[in-house]
Amino acid sequence: MPRPPVFALPALAGCRVTVVGMARSGVAAAEVAVRRGAVVTCTDARPNAARVAGTRAVYGEHQRSDFVGAELVIVSPGVPASQPDVAAAVAAGVPVVGELGFAAALLAEQGTMLLAVSGTNGKSTTTHLLGQLLTRAGLRAFTGGNIGAPLSSAVDGGYDAVAVEVSSYQMELPGAFHPRAAAILNLAPDHLERHGSMDAYAEAKCRMFHQMVLGDWQILPAHDARLERVCDVLPGRRAYLADFPGVRIVPDGAAHALAFDDIPGGRTLSLRGFTLPGRHNRENVAAAVLLALCGGVPADRIDVVGLSGLPHRMETVAVRDGVAWVNDSKATNIESTLVALESASAPLVVLLGGRGKAGADYERLAGPLRGSRAVICFGEAGPSIAEGLVRAGLAPTMASGLDDAVRLAASFAEPGDTVLLSPACASFDEFTDFEHRGRHFGAAVQGMTA
Ligand code: ADP
Repeated sequence: MPRPPVFALPALAGCRVTVVGMARSGVAAAEVAVRRGAVVTCTDARPNAARVAGTRAVYGEHQRSDFVGAELVIVSPGVPASQPDVAAAVAAGVPVVGELGFAAALLAEQGTMLLAVSGTNGKSTTTHLLGQLLTRAGLRAFTGGNIGAPLSSAVDGGYDAVAVEVSSYQMELPGAFHPRAAAILNLAPDHLERHGSMDAYAEAKCRMFHQMVLGDWQILPAHDARLERVCDVLPGRRAYLADFPGVRIVPDGAAHALAFDDIPGGRTLSLRGFTLPGRHNRENVAAAVLLALCGGVPADRIDVVGLSGLPHRMETVAVRDGVAWVNDSKATNIESTLVALESASAPLVVLLGGRGKAGADYERLAGPLRGSRAVICFGEAGPSIAEGLVRAGLAPTMASGLDDAVRLAASFAEPGDTVLLSPACASFDEFTDFEHRGRHFGAAVQGMTA
């Protein structure tokens, strides 16, 4: 893969800027551009999308002239680079940048250090952990990007450092996105309908490294031949998750420690007092600590004790009659459900289902599910999940939807069990998103408690 040309953001004062896609990221970017004196047009195919004061509004349709006639086009992550007007602007030689790349360029001017997290699973948790580590180390830190607030809302905030979650969509038009250190946590089949192939998906992730220079850090999973191949031409030092040079998780009595080699401030750091469950969360904190060290945080300022996790990821929402009810609604693919099953220890009643993803092989769940008290399949993908599990010799129970699944789970669970919602599917058949699904699960469980 050839190295792309360096992207230069034009001076914004008086610049004709078009912002496309007026959800939160587009709004935040437009506000920044207005603040900088740009002449801003906001456009969205939805007639009722959010308006931004001081901008010209073209809603309900796009006008091609706003794209090819602009001096800068800023694209929200919800709008693909293949969108015809965006593609026309690129073809016309107009600088076109994603919202993340736009914000990153301005933050770089302000001397804010970017530390980036991407990967298929664990991005939000790792970014959240990194943000906490930076704050505990005494930095004025912002956490955002694909999680929480858009990166543009960090511009002019006076931050020393930003922990930014990056989705592959946001790297379609990376512009001047240039982190000091960036980690790809893992790469598993997901979002292939937008990227087309695993190679294209990997290539999109590695765009985080495109603008790096020699002193920067690429952090990769160990032994991933595809990522190695794609990253090979890119500059920056390399550190690995679970390998040398990089970070390994090693035993520390009954607990674990992180061992760092050959990286700034390298040493062993105990994970006693780090309470998030499972090997995957140890991997996530390992990545977060490695990023902080590569970003120059001194090893003796890193404190992992009592770091918090995020809702909807292995979150215990109730304990009722000795049964723990755990919401892992964010598990929207098979890999994330596999790690949930691995990190749970009690006898399980497992709830699987929702909207399936192209090519998902649910039979892979059968091994870790063997020995569960019950497996309940619900929603659109319920029948095909059940089919895969039956082929593998399991006897799942069918439920119509999540409410029915919760009701059945209550009838199966015995004291000491854990009921785990870790659906391995998207939520859109019944809910607006995974958070809606998780809240609904919590409310259904609380309703039973009452
Ligand atoms: P993302 O932002 O990448 O979707 P999250 O931190 O929100 O990641 O976690 C999504 C799901 O993936 C959760 O259900 C969680 O249990 C699981 N998960 C978290 N970290 C990892 C990891 N390192 N590897 C695999 N799965 C993980």
